[in-house]
Amino acid sequence: MTASPVFGKVYMVSQLTDAFARKFYYLRLSITDVCNFRCTYCLPDGYKPAGATNKSFLSLDEIRRVTRAFAALGTEKVRLTGGEPSLRRDFTDIIAAVRENAAIRQIAVTTNGYRLARDVKAWRDAGLTAVNVSVDSLDARQFHAITGQDKFRQVMAGIDAAFAAGFERVKVNTVLMRDVNHHQLDTFLAWIKPRRIQLRFIELMETGEGGSLFREHHISGATIRDELLKRGWIHQLRNRADGPAQVFCHPDYEGEIGLIMPYDKDFCASCNRLRVSSSGKLHLCLFGDGGVSLRELLADDSQQGALIARIEEALTYKKQTHFLHDGNTGITQNLSYIGG
Ligand code: SAM
Ligand code: SF4
Repeated sequence: MTASPVFGKVYMVSQLTDAFARKFYYLRLSITDVCNFRCTYCLPDGYKPAGATNKSFLSLDEIRRVTRAFAALGTEKVRLTGGEPSLRRDFTDIIAAVRENAAIRQIAVTTNGYRLARDVKAWRDAGLTAVNVSVDSLDARQFHAITGQDKFRQVMAGIDAAFAAGFERVKVNTVLMRDVNHHQLDTFLAWIKPRRIQLRFIELMETGEGGSLFREHHISGATIRDELLKRGWIHQLRNRADGPAQVFCHPDYEGEIGLIMPYDKDFCASCNRLRVSSSGKLHLCLFGDGGVSLRELLADDSQQGALIARIEEALTYKKQTHFLHDGNTGITQNLSYIGG
């Protein structure tokens, strides 16, 4: 139990812990549903507002309040995601607002990379500590086919700009898809050999809208893991605020490989993150829960105590696993809604 000052008052809060003794150090905060890409596995027909307008996304002040509450509850890391978070005009201000919390030591973004070359320096100056860029192919034409955008070179320039801005390591997310990129391991390895990139293969997840794509293209990350081990890659240990990636390194490579395997039987045992959607709902799991509304407690600073209590209460309902193995996709129609 620790004392945490929030706007003059001192709240006695304990580290967020659920009924299965999992501790939650990590918040994934979606700040918009809007995206300018049309990734085949996420928004194949592009972004369409679902009743909500842009106005209903969390405001800068609401973001300030929600991250302050999580900081008081022991959150050490916040990832800003979306939709495409960098489409928010106030994105740099959002980073600065999250940074106001001294307890939050890591502020990361997951981005499609299209604004990186222009803005990554300003983001770093505002307090961003880590960048994840989604790149599913190193072939410009295939990249275009997957994302619906002819922006491969722009995204590559963005990664270079992130290094130039002072990020020592950049993470790249690659959704692993059978017959699309699963046979391109050599190309990916050659790319990271001289670069301090952690390239993370994410197993394709089934969503409400992506059932047929999933059946056609899902492949287990175990195929990559076996290949890496055969080639002398070494499995590393993880830190407590790290994501669920299994990370592999090799003495001849500057880069690393990460594997995110949500269908692995032990995946949920290491869960350390909670999610807040762009409309202010707390989601205990990426899949299968309707979310607990925090919005009405974000309107002003006076409700901070109630906000903290609602988050703590909600956590008591977190389930042990996501039941994806049973084909349960919950309400998650696509991951742009909740930020992956
Ligand atoms: N637009 C940003 C981006 O693409 O990086 C952030 C939001 S996106 C929803 C976050 C991550 O989720 C991306 O790395 C994306 O590749 C991944 N993702 C989206 N749909 C997925 C799916 N069905 N299975 C696995 N990963 C998915
Ligand atoms: Fe947009 Fe990211 Fe979804 Fe691709 S994965 S459509 S970039 S939100």
